[in-house]
Amino acid sequence: MNIDAGSYQVVFENAMQELVRFVNQNYPNSKRYIIADSNTMEFCLPVIDKYLAEIKVEQQVFSMEPGEDSKSIDLAHQLWENFTDLEITRGDLILNIGGGVVSDLGGFVAATYKRGVDVINIPTTLLAMADASVGGKVGVNFHQLKNQLGYFSNPKGVFIHPEFLNTLPDREFVSGYAEMLKHALIADANSWDKMKIQGAPSVEFVTGLLPQSVAIKNSFVTQDPLDKGIRKTLNFGHTIGHAIETLFMDSDTEVLHGEAVAAGMICAAYISNKQAGLSDSSLKEISNVLNTVFDLEFVSWLMAENLALPLKHDKKNAGSTLQFVLISEPGKAVYDQEVSMELALESFEYVQDVVGGE
Ligand code: NAD
Repeated sequence: MNIDAGSYQVVFENAMQELVRFVNQNYPNSKRYIIADSNTMEFCLPVIDKYLAEIKVEQQVFSMEPGEDSKSIDLAHQLWENFTDLEITRGDLILNIGGGVVSDLGGFVAATYKRGVDVINIPTTLLAMADASVGGKVGVNFHQLKNQLGYFSNPKGVFIHPEFLNTLPDREFVSGYAEMLKHALIADANSWDKMKIQGAPSVEFVTGLLPQSVAIKNSFVTQDPLDKGIRKTLNFGHTIGHAIETLFMDSDTEVLHGEAVAAGMICAAYISNKQAGLSDSSLKEISNVLNTVFDLEFVSWLMAENLALPLKHDKKNAGSTLQFVLISEPGKAVYDQEVSMELALESFEYVQDVVGGE
């Protein structure tokens, strides 16, 4: 079940025992520091306290407010100051215990501090288990732009302990399922057949599917670590998904990453139907599944034309051309597909119709 990610392993089997063994073997004399947020401090650290005791983690925990606002250069600055005050060295070890916000921010701070302190990711959300903790993308948001400052820096290990999912709020849990559905839609028709349920999945069901889902992500990132070619396939649903997240960034309405990506995947499926050969029946099936698993009401609060500006600034564009990942059928994807702004905005109107029941 464990996955070889090249320079590190993603460990599922006896993950916490393996974590203890790995740290004590590879970092016998290093100081270890934990980065967490206040929720993972409260709900996750107690679940593994006996293991943390065994690896003799210095009880130095950097805790931050939960949520996307913490993925900022201000928080990074604060952590760099803490690292400096504590005289953390390149031989020390950082344990990121949290969701994607903790691993993106903690990974970024550790990668830049003294040109790199080793990091281990212990993901506690479904999204981080299936996606964020693997692949080495670390970074922070800047000037209302998602992941505007960032870097590639792999962890030394990822240890997945699904028990954490028991305390994750339902909405966060379901949001993580979006990335797993994405992995199935771009690369694995069999997984899609198993996963195309109506309504929210259970922790048990998802736990059984996790290794295969991470294996799909891992296969793309190991083939193309720097995101120059085939790794871009993982952006399925993310072009319009990121535009939606950008528009809601400063609003009182919270739209979770997976929810925005779910809406973005319906858009990408619509465009795939128009220009990549996706059948009408597959488009209908994908739209129905995503619309029943996720609460996508938020799409009705936007005007399609509002998406034009964030879409123009999308990092994935080639010059002024929008680039999408499209699918010709579930499990078969193509990347670097040019799409007109007009069709992109039309696809958003389609999602609004799907969500509105038309
Ligand atoms: P998150 O880290 O904000 O966690 C979601 C919420 O759940 C937070 O309030 C957190 O405190 C709480 N929480 C976490 N684990 C918990 C647990 N076990 N029990 C109770 N509460 C818990 O969000 P996320 O969805 O994990 O990550 C989203 C971020 O990940 C975004 O910033 C996104 O850009 C990034 N991301 C990065 C990559 C990558 O490859 N680096 C990939 C996908 C997403």
